[in-house]
Amino acid sequence: MKTYRIYYDDAYEREFTARVVHCELLPPDVNAGITTQVLGLVLDRTAFYPTSGGQPNDLGKIGDASVLDVRDEGDEIIHIVDRRPDGPDVLGCVNWPRRFDHMQQHTGQHLLSAMFQERYGRPTVSFHLGTELSTIDLRGPEPNEEILEGAERAANKVIFEDRPINVRYGTARDLAELGVRKEVERPGILRAIEIAGADLQPCGGTHVKTTGQIGTLLVRRCAKMRQDWRVEFVCGGRAERAARQDFLLLRAAAEKLGCAPEELVRAAERTLTERDANFKRTRALLERVAEIEAAEAVLEAAPGSDGIRLIHRVFKDVEPEFQGQFATRVAKAERSIALTAGLGSGHILFAQHPAAGKDMNAALKQVLAKLGGKGGGTRDFARGRLDDPAQAEEALALARDMLSGQERAV
Ligand SMILES: [Zn+2]
Repeated sequence: MKTYRIYYDDAYEREFTARVVHCELLPPDVNAGITTQVLGLVLDRTAFYPTSGGQPNDLGKIGDASVLDVRDEGDEIIHIVDRRPDGPDVLGCVNWPRRFDHMQQHTGQHLLSAMFQERYGRPTVSFHLGTELSTIDLRGPEPNEEILEGAERAANKVIFEDRPINVRYGTARDLAELGVRKEVERPGILRAIEIAGADLQPCGGTHVKTTGQIGTLLVRRCAKMRQDWRVEFVCGGRAERAARQDFLLLRAAAEKLGCAPEELVRAAERTLTERDANFKRTRALLERVAEIEAAEAVLEAAPGSDGIRLIHRVFKDVEPEFQGQFATRVAKAERSIALTAGLGSGHILFAQHPAAGKDMNAALKQVLAKLGGKGGGTRDFARGRLDDPAQAEEALALARDMLSGQERAV
């Protein structure tokens, strides 16, 4: 039996009486978020909108039962409910804030799509009404800022004029003669929504009755989506919330940067410039410190009987590049060797002045073979990483022993 759709002619009817036509137990439907056993309820008439045409389903109550989902199954509308109705006659009650929000977004979509098409030749190829944002996909070249703003402004102008919105019925030919925006080739009588003087579009959804009820429309981001351009927008209560959230966000960011909201971009630029300058300065200072520390270490280290200075150092909590700068500086001093390790990082780095005549790579390989880790290098410079960063001291002690072994081998 065909369900009479109350919302086709009156989208504002939110309470209605109806007769139960059919009721059956349904298995859980995990994909729809339904994990318990539910019932599929068919009524002779309903104000509940089923998911279709980009608009989500209504929620609400039928008697004491909660409506969990509403599905369009051809002629029938199936209400997914959590309990069986008490009798053959029921009272349905649609969750109105949710439905009215959908009506605002959906009607706003008709209007926005019409503006993009009429003014800028960008047809809408799909529409999605999400829980936070709604989107339309536009075909054609990328809509620039001027087009996005222009369509938004034109849509808001029609909203402020509070034009009537009517439901029209007719064959595809009738609608074509009336100048429908999107021609359809379906037989029979079609339903179309007319925004006076702005748009005529076939649609089975729910809409507000004058453009003023859309409230206002804000175009948000635009991003490439396959071959099309996805434009985000919000209407009515959502636009109000989005504008308020934007303001709170700007104010919080401005407070952090200690400036007025309108100064934010300049303050952010200044902060980034300062950050980059500080980064460069810190690097230069680190190099300078490494140079001084290396010079001191070389001065303090007494050369061995072979004239070689062996300097070893475990670093803790220093910038990662500092260890390398220190070792490289030491290795610039005649016949000096630097054995360094990072406690915590597990980085080990050996460097020598070429005249020291040892093999850093061989020493590193032996340490890693014994303690575990990865790395490699050349005769004069080798670096690696210990599996266990706590073994920095052991690694250097081992390296020292090995280098004296190398010495004996010479
Ligand atoms: Zn519609």
